[in-house]
Parts: sequence; C-alpha cells; structure tokens
Amino acid sequence: MPKKLLRIALAGNPNSGKTTIFNNLTGTRQKVGNWPGVTVEKKEGEISRNGYDIKVIDLPGTYSLTPFSIEEIVARDFILEENPDVVIDIIDASNLERSLYLANQLRELDCKVIFALNMADLAKARGMQIDAGIMSDLLGVPVVFTVGNKGEGLKELIQTAVDLSESSSGIPEERRVRYSKDIEAAIADLKDVLIEQIDDTFPYNPRWIAIKLLEDDEIVKKRIRKKMGEPAESVIETARQLRGQLMGRFDEDPEIVMTDERYGFIAGIIREAVTNSIRRRVDISRNIDLVLTNRFLGFPIFIFFIWAMFQVTFTLGAYPMGWIDAGVGLLSSFVGGLLPAGLVRDLLVNGVIAGVGSIIIFLPNILLLFFCIALFEDTGYMSRAAFLMDKIMHLIGLHGKSFIPMLMGFGCNVPAIMATRTLESRKDRILTIMITPFMSCSARLPVYIVLAGTFFAASAGTVIFMLYVLGIVVAILTGRLFRSVLLRGFEAPFVMELPPYRMPMVKSLLIHMWDRSKMFLKKMGGIILVGSVVVWTLSTFPRDIEYSRDYGAEIGRINTVYAEKIGDAAPDRVEALKRERDELIQETKNLRSAEKARKSYIGRIGHIIEPVFEPIGIDWRGSVSLLTGFVAKEIVVSTMGVLYAVDEDDAESEALHSALKKSGMTPLSALALMLFVLLYIPCLATVAVIAQETGSIRWALFNVAYTTGVAWVMAFIVYQGGTLLGLG
Ligand code: GDP
Ligand code: MG
Repeated sequence: MPKKLLRIALAGNPNSGKTTIFNNLTGTRQKVGNWPGVTVEKKEGEISRNGYDIKVIDLPGTYSLTPFSIEEIVARDFILEENPDVVIDIIDASNLERSLYLANQLRELDCKVIFALNMADLAKARGMQIDAGIMSDLLGVPVVFTVGNKGEGLKELIQTAVDLSESSSGIPEERRVRYSKDIEAAIADLKDVLIEQIDDTFPYNPRWIAIKLLEDDEIVKKRIRKKMGEPAESVIETARQLRGQLMGRFDEDPEIVMTDERYGFIAGIIREAVTNSIRRRVDISRNIDLVLTNRFLGFPIFIFFIWAMFQVTFTLGAYPMGWIDAGVGLLSSFVGGLLPAGLVRDLLVNGVIAGVGSIIIFLPNILLLFFCIALFEDTGYMSRAAFLMDKIMHLIGLHGKSFIPMLMGFGCNVPAIMATRTLESRKDRILTIMITPFMSCSARLPVYIVLAGTFFAASAGTVIFMLYVLGIVVAILTGRLFRSVLLRGFEAPFVMELPPYRMPMVKSLLIHMWDRSKMFLKKMGGIILVGSVVVWTLSTFPRDIEYSRDYGAEIGRINTVYAEKIGDAAPDRVEALKRERDELIQETKNLRSAEKARKSYIGRIGHIIEPVFEPIGIDWRGSVSLLTGFVAKEIVVSTMGVLYAVDEDDAESEALHSALKKSGMTPLSALALMLFVLLYIPCLATVAVIAQETGSIRWALFNVAYTTGVAWVMAFIVYQGGTLLGLG
C-alpha cells in the first residue's frame, strides 16, 4: 500500500524555535536550498510517521503575513499557493502577545493550523500559566505545548497534525476575529461583490481576500487580477470606495484600525487563557502596599508591628521561660543532692548551672524574636520597613536598608552585625555596625526588669520603653556624628527593592529562626559558661575569709532561741514563729554572703573600680556587675544576685528586689545604672563579631571605648542632674 503524503509547514516568529523543532523532527534528512528567486534559505525534510510520508518545510521567520518583507512574502505565498496540508505555528509561549499576531493572521488565511506553544519551559519559569484548553476553545485551533530544544511534545504535535489533516472541519465561524461593526459590514459587502464574480475554482478564501483588499494589499490585488482577469477591477474599485468610507469614519487607514482590533482580540485571549502568577503576585503586593507603605498609615502600622513583636516575644515567651527556670532549678537541686557539699558542687551549681541557666532562660524569647524577624523577612515586610525608615535613616546619611540590622539588634547584636553584610558600601557597613550595639538587645532586658521593677514599680513598662527609644536616639546621633567626622561620604546609591509579598513557609521560617538563634547560642553559650565560671571563681576565692562576726554561731543561737519559743507557744502561733525564724536565718546568711562577697577577689576589684562609678551613683557592687556584664549582659543580674547577698536561685525574685531597696540604691541611681547598661560596651561576643565583620580590631576597640564613654557621660548627666534637681 503506497503511503499517504502529507505536507506540514512550520511558521513562526524569528527565534521562536522553528529550526530547532524542524531539526528535531527531521534529523539529518534535510534538504537545504533557497526559495525560488530570492536568497531566503529554504529547508525541507522528510519523515514517516503514522503511515504517512511527511514533508516538513521550515518557513522563514516572520512577525506577520502583511507582505512588507521578503520573508513575509515567501511565507505567505507558500501557504497560499502551495496549500500545505497543515501549518504548524511555532509560538514563543513566553512572548505570547507578539506571537499571537501572526497566529491570528494564519487563522484568517483559513488554512489548517496548529499552535505549538514552544518555549513552554521559559513561560513556566516566568510564572505564566497558559490554559491550552481555553485557548484552543477560544481560537478553534488545536494547541500543543512543546519544548523544542528538549524534543518535548513533538510526538503529540505530529499526531495532532495528522489528525487535523484527516478532519474536514475548519475554524468555526464564531471563532473568527470579529472586527467592529463598520469594518465587518465593509467586509461583508466586498465579499458579496467578490462572490458574484467567482466560481468554484477560485483558490482563496473570499473573506480573507476581502480583508486584504480593504487593507489595500498590492500583492493580493495582483493575484486576483491574474486569477479573475477583467472582473477583478470592479471588486478592487468597490474595495477602494469602501476604504474611502471607512477612512472617513475612523480618520485612519482601515489597516491600522484592523491591526488595533486584532491586538484587542489577542489581549482578550491572553486575559482568558493566561494567568501570570508572578504578575498577579505583583498586583496583590501593590494593593497591600497601598496600605502598608501609605504615607500616613504606613508608619503607625510599622510601629504596631514592632510593638506586637515585642509583645509576642515577652508575653508568649514568659511561659516557657517559667518552665525552663523550673527545670534549671530542678537540675540544680538534683546535681546539688548528688554531690557532697564542697567546691565542686559549688562550682557546678552556682557557677555552671546558674550561669548557663541564666542564658538558657532567654532562649524562648530569643527564638520568638527571631521567629518574628524571620516572618518579617520571609513575607517581604522587612523591605517595607526599610522603605518606611528610609527618610529617618537619611538623617544619619544611611539608607533604610541599614535599619534591618538595627531592628535585628533588638534580638541580639551578634546576628544583627552579621546582617550588615547585605549593605554594599563599606562605609555604610561600618557606620551601621558602629551604631547597632545601641539597639537594646534582649540580654539587657532582665537588667531593666529587675531594676525598673524594683524602683519604678508602676511605671516600669514606660521606663523600659523609654530606654529602648533612647537607644535608638543615641544610635541616630552617633550616626550623624560619625558620618560627618569619621566616615564622611554620601550613602551609596541603591534601589529600594520591594519584592512581592509571599506567603511564608513554616519550614523556612523555622530554619531562619534557628540559624540566627544557633549563632546566638553558640557565641554566647561558650562565653557565658566561661564568664560564669570566672565570676563564680572571683566571688568564691579566697576561701579563708576572716568574718567580722561568727555567722554560724548566730544562726545556731537563732535556732536555739526559736526552738524554745516554739516549744512554749500556743499551737496557732507555731507557724508564724517558724516563719520568723527562717527569715532571721536567711537575713544572717545574706549578711554572711555579703561580707564574703565584699572580701572576695571580685569585691576587691569592685572597690578598686568604684571611684570610676561613684560620680554616676553606682556603688562597688553595681560596678562589679557592670564589669562582669562585659562578658554578657545577662550576667549583670546574676552578679547583682551574688553581691547584693541573695541566694543565686532567687536572683530574679522578691529577695533581690528587697535586697536592692535596702542596699542604698535610689531610683535615680537605678536609672543611671540602667542607662549605663543600655549604652556601654556590647558584650564580648559582639566585640568579637565587630572585629570580624569590620576586619579590624581597631574598630572593635574604638567601639568599646566610644560606647562606654557615651554610657558614662549619659549616666553622669542623668545622675548629677537629677541630684541637683533634688530627685535623688
Ligand atoms: P527560529 O529562529 O525560530 O528558527 O529559532 P531557533 O530554532 O533557531 O531557536 C532559537 C533559540 O531558542 C535556540 O537557541 C534554541 O535552542 C532555543 N529554543 C528552541 N526551543 C526552545 C524551548 O522550547 N525552550 C527553550 N528554553 N529554548 C528553546
Ligand atoms: Mg530558524
């Protein structure tokens, strides 16, 4: 049985992948020549598929079939005169709008046409989702997806072509491009005139000829003159008149009006069949940004988010904080019970467990804070925050972008300083690094809680909030100063990117949260451990202290006295007496630890440095706490616990409050102390990371000196000023 013959032409825009698909289909079985009479390359190849001998012709690439160029003339003539069985239009799916113009002209030509949506991979990568079903329905043309350079979809393409050649149905009438009323009327009139003059042998589609004559297509005129002879003149004359009428009505050449309308049709198709997830996301983002970066609403909303972040961090964090606290307490008494009393037990319980426990307690806060920050980052809100802060940051000569590390500084300065890596300019980076430590990190909060809680009871919250604000103000002033003295220059130009909002993925949130927290734990964990042991050692030695009183004997006396009293007392007084006794014993013990601390190495150091802190209202115990706080600011609280003569376990409880009150500290000196804690030297880990990120020890040392100087001066002003005003 002789095989049936099929001729398939590949049409398409230049670079749509025609040749790639042609090569893929035909392999080496190609003939390369020129199209007759012109120097445009013609490629033909043959394949056998599905019982057919298929001849594939690679047409020249064109954007339309309006015969302006040789390529367009060649391609159109081939389709018109050689009548291929099927034309496959290779469409660059990632560039639909441009490609569909030619596609629609092919449809108008009334040949059997298939749309191959090539570059389907690129379209997908650009976020376009093309619904081939809808497109095929709307256009009345089969649509196949292909990836030419990978050979994907080619089998289906040939199968569809074979099916189409066997079917007899053309493009349904109602699927044609509909022009506006006047143009359609002109097409209909002209078509009628034409049909009167022709018979069945007329090889072209009458509607198409009518359209082309209204467009004043010279080649078509020539063609019909050749095919029809004399009668063509009356048709062409009618076309001329109709063109005149249309021009009068539209004040524009009909071909321009029709081109416009075709593009309108294409836009409609794209709207129906293509959803662009990227563009949609951009649109949604733009709407959200109308609110979130609004000139008036943006800032209050931003402040609200920050407030909510701290709220979540500290209220939600309080629960697990309590559990961990209890857990550390349990561990401490478990280890305490396991070991005999002595130096080793003391080291483990009061040095290691208490010290490391004091940081582990903040883990929930840190995790929550970093979770919120990850949420800001992953949703894309962080860039909006930077955008909102841009104006304010320009006061310092920095960009809004520098605000991101500063914001993270509220969590922990260490990852915050690492986050300055996103800044392009080195000067901007150093400037941001220099001011970030003024952002009150979460380690400073316990100090505020204890001191503000003790001395400003009702307004503690406000005092703490003011401290945070003051940190920001000092950062801004410092920024201005450094920008005009040390790091002169202008902010590097940069584009404020506002990437589309995204729904954050829980997994990525958790990973980001953990990455930062890990950094915090690693950096701080080691240093805290060492610092705690050092503080413990300095406060435990020397062992052989000569106490001014025999505390042991006093405790013994209290016990005997109360044993007697309890024995004589009425049953309902027993409980009260026991309580009284325990309080007295505790007080005596506290006095003993206080004397021990005073005479320990740490006490001696405290007395040496006391003169430095005296002018700012801080006694030797506060001085020592500040000194140990250099290791990590959490240690300030635990050191105060040791020095103000309270059992380590109770560092944050009532006992410390009352001990502090009795210590002679006043609200004013407490404020000075908090100010100092806010502003002075960042912790050891931060100093290390400053050195690492600036690449210079000198910047790190400079930061230590500068921040401590600022802290002292500020505390001095507040304390002395307050004293002068009689607030002390
Ligand atoms: P022509 O001008 O229509 O003949 O286009 P070509 O066949 O020369 O292809 C143009 C470029 O597009 C070549 O680099 C091809 O490798 C590439 N290309 C073709 N089809 C695809 C496709 O489906 N996906 C991608 N990503 N690239 C393609
Ligand atoms: Mg090519």
